[in-house]
Amino acid sequence: MIALDDIRRSFKGRIALAEPLARYTTFRIGGPADIYLEPLDRDDALSLIRYLRRESIPFFPMGNGSNLLISDEGVRGAVVNLEVGFNYLDMTTEGVITAGAGVKLAKFVDFCITRGRQGVEMLAGIPGTLGGAVIMNAGAYGGEISDYMLSVELIRGDRLLRISRDQGGFAYRTSGLQGDLILEASFVFPEGRTDSMKTFRRETMLKRNSSQPVQWPNAGSIFKNPPGHYAAKLIQECGLKGRRIGNAEISELHANFIINRGGASANDVLMLAEIARGTVKKKFGIDLELEIKLVGFEEDVASRLRDEVEGRKSTVSDRDD
Ligand SMILES: Cc1cc2nc3c(=O)[nH]c(=O)nc-3n(C[C@H](O)[C@H](O)[C@H](O)COP(=O)(O)OP(=O)(O)OC[C@H]3O[C@@H](n4cnc5c(N)ncnc54)[C@H](O)[C@@H]3O)c2cc1C
Repeated sequence: MIALDDIRRSFKGRIALAEPLARYTTFRIGGPADIYLEPLDRDDALSLIRYLRRESIPFFPMGNGSNLLISDEGVRGAVVNLEVGFNYLDMTTEGVITAGAGVKLAKFVDFCITRGRQGVEMLAGIPGTLGGAVIMNAGAYGGEISDYMLSVELIRGDRLLRISRDQGGFAYRTSGLQGDLILEASFVFPEGRTDSMKTFRRETMLKRNSSQPVQWPNAGSIFKNPPGHYAAKLIQECGLKGRRIGNAEISELHANFIINRGGASANDVLMLAEIARGTVKKKFGIDLELEIKLVGFEEDVASRLRDEVEGRKSTVSDRDD
């Protein structure tokens, strides 16, 4: 039970109840959060997390919602968003750049480029926040957000900590920081030429816009690339481009993207992903692992859908026989 008066006593930021989450995700999918909170600063975030932990209220840190599939039933407990309170960028005279977790990657990349710092320009076009990028170790075109990272400030348990890059457990599209609330990260980048970085950024964006279905709501790559393979190519070779369930569709442009053609449900998307996973496994013997995070689903949802998909297939083949 969430006692709103207890939270309001010390919390300075915005609080919304039964907040629909679809509007906060790039998929435009997701039911309501019981309570949605925007801490305004460190003290706000720390006292909030301590309260939620003390009261055993589950919480979910949400950035720009660009790597999420939130269930149609929404999220029980609290959703915490840092885009208002942690939207700062700073560079010291020694060249250390610090960004708040709520800063959009586009703004972070621009800040670095205009100050002649090289090493994140390949992340242009990734529609996340810095906090989401750190947790996911977001990357593109051979670079990752953790490449030039110095340290991360976070809340772990009920403690405020600053950890070094080496303690972050960064690997392909993941980190050892799951369950922590990232507040900010600091970086030291090599110097580079602003004009050539701007050209590179422009070319990167053009490449993205022509190879990804950016005009439709989506959550980026559904699956991680398995070692030595491209998930998109595997799905495409299974002939699944354009496959639809409800208003969710495997993109014709990029087979590792599922697009929402308007009003798609989370279940439609998940079922489609399960069809792709199962077909690739059958044809190539390769296991695809989800890159997007599932939020608000029951733990066994994937295996339940797998049974449903396989049940559906056997019904079809029964009919064929
Ligand atoms: C069109 C498109 C293209 C994309 N291209 C790429 C790409 O090239 N490379 C790539 O790596 N990704 C890509 N993505 C995926 C996504 O943008 C990244 O994973 C991004 O870093 C997620 O950031 P976010 O703020 O949107 O996080 P969210 O989607 O809101 O959350 C993702 C995860 O991060 C956690 N999180 C968010 N903020 C915090 C915080 N402050 N503290 C702790 N945990 C937090 C959430 O709990 C969740 O587990 C793409 C997505 C889209 C829609």
